[in-house]
Amino acid sequence: MPKLIQELDNIKLAIFDLDGVIYRGNSLIKGVKQVVKDLKDLSIKVVYNSNNSTATRRNYVDRLEGFDIECSIEDFYTSASIASVELTKLKSNSKIYIIGETGLQKELEARGHEIITEESRYLEVDFVVVGLDRNFTYQKLAVAQRCLLQGKAKFYATNADATLPASTGLLPGAGVMVNAVQTCTNINPEKVFGKPNPEGIETILREQNVAKEQAVIFGDRLDTDIVAGNRANIFTVMILTGVTTEEMVINLKGDSKANSNLIPGLILNSLKEIFI
Ligand SMILES: [Mg+2]
Repeated sequence: MPKLIQELDNIKLAIFDLDGVIYRGNSLIKGVKQVVKDLKDLSIKVVYNSNNSTATRRNYVDRLEGFDIECSIEDFYTSASIASVELTKLKSNSKIYIIGETGLQKELEARGHEIITEESRYLEVDFVVVGLDRNFTYQKLAVAQRCLLQGKAKFYATNADATLPASTGLLPGAGVMVNAVQTCTNINPEKVFGKPNPEGIETILREQNVAKEQAVIFGDRLDTDIVAGNRANIFTVMILTGVTTEEMVINLKGDSKANSNLIPGLILNSLKEIFI
């Protein structure tokens, strides 16, 4: 039977970021499949939490199954699925205008919300929800603006990542669309559901019925994964298989003015190191 390192030996729930922790682009990170299997053999629940709202949870199941990792749709929490859960609490069967892609649309529709696409219906819109939209246009921005300034809609964002990692380098992230809406309305989002906000992790703990002392998040970004984990008061582990280098963490630790929420509880070169 595998044995977890001392820092993790009482955990019941492992929350994994996806890109940079489980896979990088289209390749599974070495050793990850065995780590997930070993955690499950130890009766530790494994869930996945991504800020990316463009894909549906079904897409993520297909992706991990493609890597031969057993999983089900309930194991995934995206900023879109969290937005959908939280907005349903505010109003069921609401009317929503989105700047976003299929993942966001499908998650909202799955909980009974109606996606409004016609500008002429702007007065009916309850929520404008903004996420990453790779077909973002001036026209979409203008409709969102109208719903917020001339209608009754409230503004929410899935996440506010400035950039999106790509095989060619960096691409613009959802934060660009969120800022565009903010700029032309002078309204800030009521809430941003994704990391670094702790709401997503709090939703996961509630749904999985696990105390915060028994949960851990594994991430590759300090300013999203680690900050979200620290704000939600769960243990945080920085895995150096993604965008963050050891040097970046060392520099941060040496900076007395750095935000303490950026500091992970533990730094590991790869997920394999969670076992003795
Ligand atoms: Mg990541």
